[in-house]
Amino acid sequence: MEFQNLINGVWKNSASGKFSENRNPANWNDDLIGMFPLSTEADVNEAVDAAKEAFKKWRLVPAPKRGDVLKVVGDIMVERKDEIAFEMTREMGKVIAETKGDTQEGIDTAFYAASEGRRLFGYNAPSELYNKMNLSFRIPIGVGGIITPWNFPMAIPTWKIFPALVCGNTVVFKPAELTPKTANTLVHIIDEAMRIVLGKDYIPGVINLVHGKGSVVGECLLANKNVDLISFTGSTLVGRRINEVGGRELKRVSLELGGKNAQIVMDDANMDLALDAVLWGAFGTTGQRCTATSRLILHKNIHDKFIEKLLERVKKLKLGYGNEKGVDVGPCVSESQRETVDEYVKIGLNEDKAKMITGGEKATEGNLAKGWFYKPTIFTDVTPDMRIAKEEIFGPVLSVLKCNDLDEGVKILNGTEYGLSSSIFTNNVNDAFRAVRDIEAGITYINGATIGAEAHMPFGGVKATGNGHREGGWTVYDFYSEWKAVYIDYSGKLQRAQIDNY
Ligand code: NAP
Ligand code: MG
Repeated sequence: MEFQNLINGVWKNSASGKFSENRNPANWNDDLIGMFPLSTEADVNEAVDAAKEAFKKWRLVPAPKRGDVLKVVGDIMVERKDEIAFEMTREMGKVIAETKGDTQEGIDTAFYAASEGRRLFGYNAPSELYNKMNLSFRIPIGVGGIITPWNFPMAIPTWKIFPALVCGNTVVFKPAELTPKTANTLVHIIDEAMRIVLGKDYIPGVINLVHGKGSVVGECLLANKNVDLISFTGSTLVGRRINEVGGRELKRVSLELGGKNAQIVMDDANMDLALDAVLWGAFGTTGQRCTATSRLILHKNIHDKFIEKLLERVKKLKLGYGNEKGVDVGPCVSESQRETVDEYVKIGLNEDKAKMITGGEKATEGNLAKGWFYKPTIFTDVTPDMRIAKEEIFGPVLSVLKCNDLDEGVKILNGTEYGLSSSIFTNNVNDAFRAVRDIEAGITYINGATIGAEAHMPFGGVKATGNGHREGGWTVYDFYSEWKAVYIDYSGKLQRAQIDNY
């Protein structure tokens, strides 16, 4: 089946006439999901022009009405949740419970955005002059280029597109080439909701979808002078490039980048709870989360016992197609992602001191041979200077380090260029609060896994994980709007601030 782009309210083929295949990473040869347009510069420019034109009208639609569109989007997503999740598992591999969660995050974000249409609060401040009023309120920015990765194919696009729309911006969306189907469904739903809510006042071009490669579609969005803002989630490498070009062109840029998240377990912690968390954090989504637990930092007193139990539990994890019952871990998203994982395992094996205690190879038994499966892998005796302790792997590989006390644990945790998510298991309230204060990360969990952000809270990281913006909650609205200050002078004369009263 051939899919299309949405440009200016019309579903159409790319000017290139070319397509790329979307396949099931758990059953590569036998399950072709669809053919998606490989779009060109002409497609991008057409979409941006449409978005620019649509902005003239969309910005004037009352924000509560824009919110109503998101309410309908959320309602449709609730109705279609199971089907969306099934297809998402099919296209990118994570298990159905997780793709349902991914969809639910989109639903939560839709309803939050819907209600934000009735807030978008501004501030008032008194004037320093008589008979004068000072107000400030949020205004939309213009055309937003939205570029997203494949690991949260629904949640991440919704984190960006929904607040962008509620604020009155228009959108050109370029999803990851590996997850075009979920993106296609999302945009269909948004367009349907626009038509339902706006009726005869429907505005074509408010939301546009352009499929294709980052190196083509992404770059063209970046290069287009009419794109006012870019919101990007993906690798640090591409993020740096977007920041460079965006900086030069004075585009507003939001970046959510890599992570090398760690979970600390202190010797007073609830061990079983900490075990559940690390299994979920390290091997959920096959480790392909920006918030995945990639490092485990164990207090020396519980190290050996914890590893013993962890090993027992990891060996029981069932690999398979995520839409089948009882499966814990799906495949890597692609062959090349699995190769990257395998390369990092080799890098780990080349470290004299690190010990690989399980996994370390592709999983090819039975039906697993049909997909890009990799055995959950654990390295112990890892030290902070090793590459497997510092670099993002984005696969089912956990590096275990040892610490003598809280200070050392936090120091190790902070010892990477990233700062997205973090976790500490302890029942000592003083240690917990010190960790909250001293950990360098945008997100810290106490007695919880490194994954599990909620849609109404700020999401993002410090250091090389981003450029200071936050998605989620109320914070994302700062990115998608600008402030206008308004002075209303009802004195009937020229009043000069800083001069007349002083
Ligand atoms: P990626 O290669 O950086 O791709 C992300 C998106 O950018 C894709 O849509 C990609 O298109 C596009 N792209 C690639 N090159 C581009 C360019 N030159 N100009 C503009 N766009 C370009 O990342 P990925 O491998 O898909 O995703 C994994 C990475 O995302 C990891 O590093 C992970 O930590 C990060 N991530 C971060 C968060 C967070 O919130 N912090 C969340 C999820 C993932 P293609 O379709 O061609 O790939
Ligand atoms: Mg990529």
